[in-house]
Amino acid sequence: MNPFQQLSFTVSVARLADLPASEREVAIAGRSNAGKSSLINTLACRKRLAYVSKTPGRTREINFFRVAAGRFVVDLPGYGYARVPLPVKEGWQQLVSGYLAGRPSLAGLVLLMDVRHPLTPLDRQLLAWLTPSGKPVHAVLTKADKLSRQGAARTLAEVRKVLEREAPAVSLQLFSSFTRQGVDELAERLATWLEI
Ligand code: GDP
Repeated sequence: MNPFQQLSFTVSVARLADLPASEREVAIAGRSNAGKSSLINTLACRKRLAYVSKTPGRTREINFFRVAAGRFVVDLPGYGYARVPLPVKEGWQQLVSGYLAGRPSLAGLVLLMDVRHPLTPLDRQLLAWLTPSGKPVHAVLTKADKLSRQGAARTLAEVRKVLEREAPAVSLQLFSSFTRQGVDELAERLATWLEI
């Protein structure tokens, strides 16, 4: 059985001091609109699970979803809205960089990027915050259905080449919430990291 069908929303956290106790967790990050909520819902085979992360006041918080005892999938706040005021951007930066740099239970980061707009400066910033920790990153190119099969394969190869140069420890896959392409590959990766 897919263990992620067990995902249930546990808590929203706005400050590092409020992070819950956890044995192992995986974090999911990406630009706003990259398809993060859809991916979490697809993984859990649920329609509205990740809508909690979109409710007013929670979009800028870290949302915890429990998958098994002491194991969590962590939804990091989306980034990249051009019109967000500076203090909000700084708040996001402090929360996310602090979380990535100093969370002992974090087993790995899943970085979502729209297959049509991969590796933006903020995506690279996120990678840079995690790099000193030596923790693994799995990059997921979302909305693969928006491109032809050949187009998606070409983008995958191009992004792989860049990552091999800049961040050799990063693995990479295509994903679509609409066709469920890549969902098993992603679930396997997360289960391995979470040891479930
Ligand atoms: P979030 O802001 O990162 O949580 O993104 P959402 O999951 O809310 O998705 C943003 C938009 O992209 C919505 O209009 C979704 O319907 C659309 N979307 C999400 N995943 C996919 C996908 O796999 N394929 C396509 N074509 N559209 C998607």
